[in-house]
Amino acid sequence: MNYKNKFPIFSNIENHYLDTAATSQKPKVVLDKIREYYEKYNGNPGRGSHKLSVEAQSLLSNARECVRKFINAKRAEEVIFTKNTTESINLVAYTYGMNFISENDEIILGISNHHANIVPWQFVAKQKKAKLKYIYLTENGQFDLEDLKSKISDRTKIVAISAVVNVTGVIQPIKEIIEIAHSKNALVLVDAAQSMLHFKHDVQELDADFLVFSGHKIFAPMGIGVMYGKKEILDKMPPFLYGGDMIEFVTEQESTFAQLPNKFEGGTQNVEGAVTLEEAIKFICEIGYEKIEKIEENLANKALEELNKLDFVETYFTKDVERTGVIAFNVIGVHSHDVAFILDSFDVAVRSGHHCAQPLMKYIGVASCCRASFSIYNDESDIQKLIEGLLKVKEVFK
Ligand code: PLP
Repeated sequence: MNYKNKFPIFSNIENHYLDTAATSQKPKVVLDKIREYYEKYNGNPGRGSHKLSVEAQSLLSNARECVRKFINAKRAEEVIFTKNTTESINLVAYTYGMNFISENDEIILGISNHHANIVPWQFVAKQKKAKLKYIYLTENGQFDLEDLKSKISDRTKIVAISAVVNVTGVIQPIKEIIEIAHSKNALVLVDAAQSMLHFKHDVQELDADFLVFSGHKIFAPMGIGVMYGKKEILDKMPPFLYGGDMIEFVTEQESTFAQLPNKFEGGTQNVEGAVTLEEAIKFICEIGYEKIEKIEENLANKALEELNKLDFVETYFTKDVERTGVIAFNVIGVHSHDVAFILDSFDVAVRSGHHCAQPLMKYIGVASCCRASFSIYNDESDIQKLIEGLLKVKEVFK
């Protein structure tokens, strides 16, 4: 069984959507919630004592508690709402990075990080004259723990890595990375943008210092994201966005700031986003990660089997490694954008290009590639269409 009928887009348009890693489609329960929120509850949270404002505030708190439970944070105020993963990482870079990283300190990144988890750290490194170090990959595409052990030092302040590589779907050994980093007193930021839809994250069990993700990749709308941080660290960090809602008192010359979580939530919050993120989380929990993983794994394995039969297609990091339902591939000798263009004429949606991971692409020596990502609304007809489209690519470019 798959869950296609729960996603209205598929009854409205013909599409073999294999681009969930870029953004997921939205189930009806989430779409209904958006409407319900505006039809019944809309008010500015924390900015009034009338019913609708109070209601909006309480919906925001309920959503925060839902996220807390979902990732097993110790306290709800450790969950900060942001716009997306990018903003969450920038929050940490600007506030932790710019205040606790100094000249000659080190920031360690994975070579397979998304640009969102590279560029903010390049900014910090430049401003603070700190060093950026990269950890490379083992043969099967995993973060090389031996490389980390050899590069981490007493000057390492933070290790920022993706739990799952967005290009290849390879699952990284997060727990081991955190243990190694903590043995040198370095903090760890886990970018869970690509992993949150695929397996359970328990921030206490992982002992993650920061963990960030985007709602739109887990069946919620665009414009809502999460930055989790341990309270004792967040308490030491200065605010990120200054303005309304994040203050305690304001005088003409000075302000004092609110406690967590408000300290990091300046301005009117995206209550609709938070409420629908809660709905998306409930949807995921009702299905259960076990089922989600099984559907993805079956589809990705079947797709790989079919792709392996095409001698003009090559895939990357698909052997002997734990992965999510993502396959990176190329039609040999054809640019990935041309492949994606022809596939689109078969209503097959795949991502093509460098996937916001140029350092990884350079490292593996592949200029660009296609990426097919499977989710709970896909089925074998999507694989058949993908193969049909690829045979057409071969015919056009023979
Ligand atoms: N990190 C990873 C691993 C990603 O795959 C992405 C998006 O694809 C991001 C960060 C950035 O997410 P967003 O664009 O939602 O901020």
